[in-house]
Amino acid sequence: MILDDFVSFDEKGLYCKYGDFYIDPQLPVKTAVISHAHADHAISGNNNVYCTRATASIMQLRYDRTAAKVFNIAAFNQSFEVDRVTVTLIPAGHMLGSAQILMEYEGARYLYTGDYKLQPDATCEPIEWVTTDVLITESTFANPAVIHPDPVTEIRKINDIKSNILLGAYALGKSQRLINLITEHSPQKKILVHHKIMPINAIYEKMGFHPGKYQIYGRKLMKVQDEFVYIVPPFTFDSYIRATGVKRLFASGWKNLQVNNQDTLFISDHVDWNDILQTIANTKPKQVWTLHGKGEHLKAYFKDDIFVKILN
Ligand SMILES: [Zn+2]
Ligand SMILES: [Zn+2]
Repeated sequence: MILDDFVSFDEKGLYCKYGDFYIDPQLPVKTAVISHAHADHAISGNNNVYCTRATASIMQLRYDRTAAKVFNIAAFNQSFEVDRVTVTLIPAGHMLGSAQILMEYEGARYLYTGDYKLQPDATCEPIEWVTTDVLITESTFANPAVIHPDPVTEIRKINDIKSNILLGAYALGKSQRLINLITEHSPQKKILVHHKIMPINAIYEKMGFHPGKYQIYGRKLMKVQDEFVYIVPPFTFDSYIRATGVKRLFASGWKNLQVNNQDTLFISDHVDWNDILQTIANTKPKQVWTLHGKGEHLKAYFKDDIFVKILN
């Protein structure tokens, strides 16, 4: 039987009272199950954290001693108990170590997707499918108007640019995917990487996911035009505003009117509308509970077929 109060929001985040744990809490808690290492899902200061090895490694890199009191590392597809709930982490395809969180309790299955994507990405474990009674999905882009472009088409745009490129991208996940895409589809480019991105690449490599061909940025390198692509985090990107002889591009998953098409590579690490429909077809839920966004479109679309509840 599906319990309507299986998870609910309070000031600390999404709480499961039957297992007495939070999922991706926003404030430090006693017990947390963490889907992946992006900062809006993985904060420091929790006591007891359940997550994948890659997520723990990245949290330790970022937060050092405050990352968590205890990490309970869970392998993908291996169930464990948190209080009365059986939990299994399933690959989510969003970034290295990202997991969907399957929770089983009294014969019902609840699947929290976390951030997830269906597009191929050689820098992380591909998404895997399990069936569920309740699908708890992020719905940031759950709008029929949102269709993500093909990432290969997007990355190939840089082949027409002969000058050096400054490419702004989030350090964690996006940068590694870009290195991989450029290595594959623009092999003539020479990739330079900001020093802040290097330790993250090292974790990827330790986990067996080599992003591609790159070297650390050196000040002298970009003095000549040699088809360099220098990947930098957003903060550094903004400080290069007056750089000359350099084409500035930003890799963004957000296609909106504020950004200039010419200066943006639209590469998203999230699902779009069609991907969500595909996910619902694959996981066969009786109910869909939505988070972070546009649940009303799904509610209208499924009307009487699937019960849709907007959690947040
Ligand atoms: Zn994320
Ligand atoms: Zn997120």
